[in-house]
Amino acid sequence: MDSMSSLAPEAAVIARYEPVIGLEVHCQLATRTKIFCGCATGFGAAPNTNVCPVCLGLPGALPVLNRQAVEFAIQASLALNCKINNTSVFARKNYFYPDLPKGYQISQYDKPLSEHGWVDIEVDGPDGKYQKRIGITRIHMEDDAGKSIHDGFKDSERYTYVDLNRTGTPLIEIVSEPDIRSADEAHAYLTVMKQVLQYVAVSTCDMEKGHLRCDANVSVRLKGAEKFGTKAEVKNLNSFRFLKLAVDQEIERQVGIVDGGGRIVQETRLFNPATGETVTMRSKENAHDYRYFPEPDLVPLQISDAWIARVRETMPELPGSRRNRFVNEYGLREYDAQVLTAERPTAEFFEEVVKTSGDARAAANWVMGDLAALLKEAEKEITESPVSAANLGRLLKLIGEGKISGKIAKELLPKMATSGESPDVLVEREGLSQISDESALIKIIDDVIAANPKQLEQYRSGKTTVMGFFVGQIMKASRGQADPAVVNKLLQEKL
Ligand code: ADP
Ligand code: ZN
Ligand code: MG
Repeated sequence: MDSMSSLAPEAAVIARYEPVIGLEVHCQLATRTKIFCGCATGFGAAPNTNVCPVCLGLPGALPVLNRQAVEFAIQASLALNCKINNTSVFARKNYFYPDLPKGYQISQYDKPLSEHGWVDIEVDGPDGKYQKRIGITRIHMEDDAGKSIHDGFKDSERYTYVDLNRTGTPLIEIVSEPDIRSADEAHAYLTVMKQVLQYVAVSTCDMEKGHLRCDANVSVRLKGAEKFGTKAEVKNLNSFRFLKLAVDQEIERQVGIVDGGGRIVQETRLFNPATGETVTMRSKENAHDYRYFPEPDLVPLQISDAWIARVRETMPELPGSRRNRFVNEYGLREYDAQVLTAERPTAEFFEEVVKTSGDARAAANWVMGDLAALLKEAEKEITESPVSAANLGRLLKLIGEGKISGKIAKELLPKMATSGESPDVLVEREGLSQISDESALIKIIDDVIAANPKQLEQYRSGKTTVMGFFVGQIMKASRGQADPAVVNKLLQEKL
């Protein structure tokens, strides 16, 4: 079948088919220790040092479930609108792989942690923006396998090394319904998923470190057909770009085969970023290949309604509702609200600036504008901002109160970043406060008028546009500190 994948079908042919996609997302929970033992989960330790008899699967060692991992899994479930089962059961999923020392993964099978969830996505489709709800079939907990490192060299021989530090790291697997209909929808789904999981802080979702990875199940059917086609699964997509490329490539490959009268083989495939193609990895194993059975060393996981309620109380506001609140409460534009809520630290920083400044529009403009530029320049995250939210809020308050001009404020921001001082201190010390005192301004205005007799004559002979020239000169003479409103009023009187 693979030879047919080189016959890329034309766009018109692809357009006759509808892709059907379901995603399986693996997310590493941000616990300090592993899911069934006390070993550290940290990244970057020397190979095979964060291991113990339990995660090495030595005979007689018994797993003990990490309560924090369960708590994170509950939070993720609630954030993704899933119904949590009061009883769920761990099961052994048996397969043999060099980096799986136990010879099985401890997962959940017929009684998963939670079910029947959903996320809402917004997609920029070819015919404009649309919204859609994607169902989540289930979320279950499991332990991660170790890592095979295939590029080891020793005495100029190639070796594969096994690092078991990752073995036993807690994961949740989030399985979607086959509701996704394009690579763009898959991309939007993973975007929302990542955003929500980061908001509830159950995972860093750092894709480069493999803390969030995604398998894409793809099939195609003729538009209007009811029955789903046979699916192929593309494994281990560890970036948004690869997800999109792999899904589009897989759709093309399958349409090429089906439209040519061929049949899709149900199998697991790998995406090769170098060629942009997916290749066969193994024929699809079925559930019975894994010989699932209940894990005899762990009792069923009981989660009471009281526990769920307690966790629910600690949940932060999620991005969707925060976005709506920013529009309704602060009068922000939809787009600004979206930018400001995309990441929780940004949203929280913004709200603190609003609190101190009392001006949401200004806070939005400065956080997305001058502050964002400053952070980009300094290559810093907002959590490491050299200007605190409170100080930025004070700066905006000084503008609002007419104590400094917007221009002076822009000059002050980098100084605040360097010294860490509050704008009040800097304004005081550098004598930057806006001059709205009339007697001080009158002196500057008189000087400027006296120095420009030609322009004065032009003005008096009816060329009133010269007014702008005078205002500019006065602002310059005051080093930007003159209050423009007062200047305008006084100047009119003088001229
Ligand atoms: P399996 O038993 O092969 O693991 P599942 O029914 O558990 O299959 O589904 C795994 C994933 O594949 C889910 O995300 C599901 O939505 C998706 N899926 C199921 N059938 C199809 C299909 N025909 N086309 C595309 N995706 C599918
Ligand atoms: Zn261990
Ligand atoms: Mg399955």
